[in-house]
Amino acid sequence: MDGFVFIVEGIEHFWDLLDRRVRARAIPPRNVQELAEKGDFIALDLGGSNFRILRVKVSHEKRQTVQMESQIYETPEDIIHGSGTQRSKEGLNKAKEILTRLGVEPSHEDCIAVQHVCTIVSFRSANLIAATLCGILSRLKDNKGVPRLRTTVGVDGSLYKMHPQYARRLHKTVRRLVPDSDVRFLLSESGSGKGAAMVTAVAYRLLEQHRQIEETLDEFKLSHAQLLEVKKRMRTEMENGLRKKTHESATVKMLPTFVRSTPDGSENGDFLALDLGGTNFRVLLVKIRSGKKRSVEMHNKIYAIPIEVMQGTGEELFDHIVHCISDFLDYMGMKNARLPLGFTFSFPCKQTSLDAGILINWTKGFKATDCEGEDVVNLLREGIKRREEFDLDVVAIVNDTVGTMMTCAYEEPTCEVGLIAGTGSNACYMEEMRNIETVSGDEGRMCVNMEWGAFGDNGCLDDFRTEYDRAVDDLSLNPGKQRYEKMCSGMYLGEIVRNILIDLTKRGFLFRGQISEALKTRGIFETKFLSQIESDRLALLQVRAILQGLGLDSTCDDSIIVKEVCGVVSRRGAQLCGAGMAAVVDKIRENQGLDHLEITVGVDGTLYKLHPHFSKIMHQTVKELAPKCDVTFLLSEDGSGKGAALITAVGCRLREQEQQN
Ligand code: ADP
Ligand code: MG
Repeated sequence: MDGFVFIVEGIEHFWDLLDRRVRARAIPPRNVQELAEKGDFIALDLGGSNFRILRVKVSHEKRQTVQMESQIYETPEDIIHGSGTQRSKEGLNKAKEILTRLGVEPSHEDCIAVQHVCTIVSFRSANLIAATLCGILSRLKDNKGVPRLRTTVGVDGSLYKMHPQYARRLHKTVRRLVPDSDVRFLLSESGSGKGAAMVTAVAYRLLEQHRQIEETLDEFKLSHAQLLEVKKRMRTEMENGLRKKTHESATVKMLPTFVRSTPDGSENGDFLALDLGGTNFRVLLVKIRSGKKRSVEMHNKIYAIPIEVMQGTGEELFDHIVHCISDFLDYMGMKNARLPLGFTFSFPCKQTSLDAGILINWTKGFKATDCEGEDVVNLLREGIKRREEFDLDVVAIVNDTVGTMMTCAYEEPTCEVGLIAGTGSNACYMEEMRNIETVSGDEGRMCVNMEWGAFGDNGCLDDFRTEYDRAVDDLSLNPGKQRYEKMCSGMYLGEIVRNILIDLTKRGFLFRGQISEALKTRGIFETKFLSQIESDRLALLQVRAILQGLGLDSTCDDSIIVKEVCGVVSRRGAQLCGAGMAAVVDKIRENQGLDHLEITVGVDGTLYKLHPHFSKIMHQTVKELAPKCDVTFLLSEDGSGKGAALITAVGCRLREQEQQN
């Protein structure tokens, strides 16, 4: 009961505290959105037999909550009635009167002593209250993330009001303890019910805000039925890509790779590999040894591709690549050996053989001219010729998904699928030749590079795309293309988050409604920050520190919202990726006429490897959407390098066999 009374009193003070600032707007609960008040408030109650400090916290972390916490301190009876005791003479008389009434016969010295004790006790009380209050104030200051806190403390209670020195003492100590704040004290005039109405009004406003944020984010939350639909549509697009009749217009291209088998362990020799299309351009030397002591040894060097080369002419790009190879061969002392080379080229290519691939279109930020529609192996061979310095035997053009699958298959023969979740998103798998109508022959199997990033480019995912996805797409280098990839790969997740944050800020839900220069900067919100922010081990203050590091001046409330935004965006990305994978493994199962399939997927990509939840959510989604498949995910070790060398080795072996026949 006491607690109840206390809270009601607290609410009244709370009302009074806000009252003066907002009363002019006389807010009935219907207009509550216009209110600016939210967060933490303090009320002091220094009346009755206790001191109470009440903290009202209105938050909206998951659900709307209004929390009240209080601390209670006992007040000695004497202090309450001893309002005159400290004023020396009058106080002494009062002391005598009180003590006499209590039935003792005090001497003059007794009265001085009692007065002294009262002073000490009440000063200690004022100091204690001040210290506790300062704890709350500095917490508030931290939460708001401001260099200087300006706030008002609403106070009530006879002790505070009547005691001749209590208030002054309290103010003085507070100002001394938090010199970096401007604290005003406001006497509360009790207005019954106002406080409660006020709390309700604030709660309504926050609830409404919270509801609107949730409504925005709900679009990113996909149900089981929706994910099944995505899986189904992926399957349809896969069929379209494989069929001769529909291949031309298909968005998921299902490109044959001319890789007809996974490694068998007999691969042997030294190979060069190039890796273009990831974050780094690399040149590698891979030494594969067969036999009992099977081994793969790799040496590699990373080279930068300057943006002006990425987006310059094709000749410049390939001259640069050949220059890097030349540097690497010097570095390894191998310029005179005509090494077989595998070219990992992680862009959609239409292959007509293992060593011929026509670039369909650039993705992921590349835009060099005169390359689309050209055979990339030719462009490389011409570059080597132009340099007239060394010769190489270009054996295979390799997609990174295929390299990933091959690397894992070298260790684990049940691996028949490759998946990339890095800068881009893509997958490949071993398909039955009879189903690949774009390549003649029905015998055996061939790895198909799905190029599933383009899933949705015909509009079939539009009902799942949000306005934020469209904004990211519109501002990208390849508008309208790679729509599925733009919803689930590392290059874009952060951009989706940034676009949501801009919108929430515009609507006044974040960063005090201020769109900073930082927030306007494209690419500022890298996907690695999603990983950091979503890490379970991170406290809210650390999230805020990350945001502040990005130039986003945020409160703890902002941080909660940002974390939630990151969570829904990466969860959706992982689920969409899982839905695609479910379509793939179920197709393989059906190809083989099995009720149950055990299969391994080789995976590469920093998003998959480093994001704290992406892989788990993706696995879970595959499990739910393809319950008849038992899928193991195997991390690939450098699929683009090792895998390219393995494909080259397999290619060399097959070529030698052919020449012998
Ligand atoms: P690529 O796909 O280019 O071969 P990666 O697999 O290394 O290369 O992926 C790089 C991409 O991974 C970056 O573009 C970035 O979006 C994303 N990324 C980088 N660091 C992280 C991280 N810590 N968590 C999640 N994603 C990350
Ligand atoms: Mg890669």
